Amino acid sequence: IFAAVEMAPRDPILGLNEAYNADTRATKVNLGVGVYYDDNGKIPLLAAVKTAERTRLETMPPRGYQPIEGPAAYDQAVQKLLFGADSELLAAGRVVTAQALGGTGALKIGADFLKRLNPAAKVYISDPSWENHRALFESAGFEVENYPYYDAETRGVNFAGMKSFLQGLPAGSIIVLHACCHNPTGADLSDAQWVEVVEVCREKGLVPFLDMAYQGFADGIDADAVAVRLFSTSGLQFFVSSSFSKSFSLYGERVGALSVVTASKEESARVLSQLKRVIRTNYSNPPIHGGAVVAAVLSNPELRQLWEDELAGMRDRIRAMRTGLVEQLKAKGVAQDFSFVAAQRGMFSYTGLSAAQVETLKNDFGIYAVSTGRICLAALNSGNIGYVAESIAQVVKG
Ligand code: PMP
Repeated sequence: IFAAVEMAPRDPILGLNEAYNADTRATKVNLGVGVYYDDNGKIPLLAAVKTAERTRLETMPPRGYQPIEGPAAYDQAVQKLLFGADSELLAAGRVVTAQALGGTGALKIGADFLKRLNPAAKVYISDPSWENHRALFESAGFEVENYPYYDAETRGVNFAGMKSFLQGLPAGSIIVLHACCHNPTGADLSDAQWVEVVEVCREKGLVPFLDMAYQGFADGIDADAVAVRLFSTSGLQFFVSSSFSKSFSLYGERVGALSVVTASKEESARVLSQLKRVIRTNYSNPPIHGGAVVAAVLSNPELRQLWEDELAGMRDRIRAMRTGLVEQLKAKGVAQDFSFVAAQRGMFSYTGLSAAQVETLKNDFGIYAVSTGRICLAALNSGNIGYVAESIAQVVKG
């Protein structure tokens, strides 16, 4: 049966992790990961999560099947976070939400639904984008192309290029947009640029698909939802995939959601029936634990406040690592201006380090980064930032 099976290409980031694990140097640092670590280099278990889990386990709830789209309490909690508690869309019944297996699962449900809806459409992702976007939409049967996004000169967004490209696309094209904390570059659109993107989508009849994997990691829960809120008031229909992997530090529990904004309550009912069909034929219904914990935290005022404080703590720590790295590189005599690292948002930075410099960092210093120069700021901590800054300084000074 398997004689003709070819070896699939290796995942470059997993390969990096394997090399890191095999490295015996005590000073090694893995900046290639896509996970938030605390100042002790550990994946945090949030106190709000711990409390909600304990309470839940004490009741020893039964393990029946969940509704195909997940429980209403979870779906509504997601909607309020994304669209705002007093959203007119929610009041009008124009948002359909289904619990999903993380942000990845949400993207896949949306992709499969869109493929049935509009099989000839093409999907456009940012250049560059999260490495799974292309594969995921291709595996749903779409042709995937890039739209211009990152500008290596300015270390920001090539907005003029992006806008004129989007303006040239045929109606019905699916545009995947990073709602905040762009992965891998850390370069986000400004609020004013989002307003323009919404207008282009309206003028050209594009299908916006917002990917929100890092809500709360840039400026705050509502501030980071600005793109979702601007699309919400536009009258357009659109998709939002969201994830609690980072914001609740629940990576392996696979907690996310797909939300679809429709034109009416009646349309919502039809769309939900189709999303349920996609889910039913993939994994039937979502797991219980992670979603129940998130819903419990979000619906309890004390736990919610605790979570918001912990989320702010993660956000502030990443910021401190950004500014700390910039300051230390300067203090170590690096002439090149790295101040853009402090201006970028979310967990990642495109540092501008070349593939050769990344290779030297690995070989000579045991510091692992993605060959594109992407580093994860959340893997820095007070114990390793000096060593990382010193190593980068040596590499860039040659
Ligand atoms: N979208 C983007 C932009 C991401 O960076 C990630 C994960 N790092 C995801 C989606 C997937 O999130 P999850 O782990 O919840 O599936």
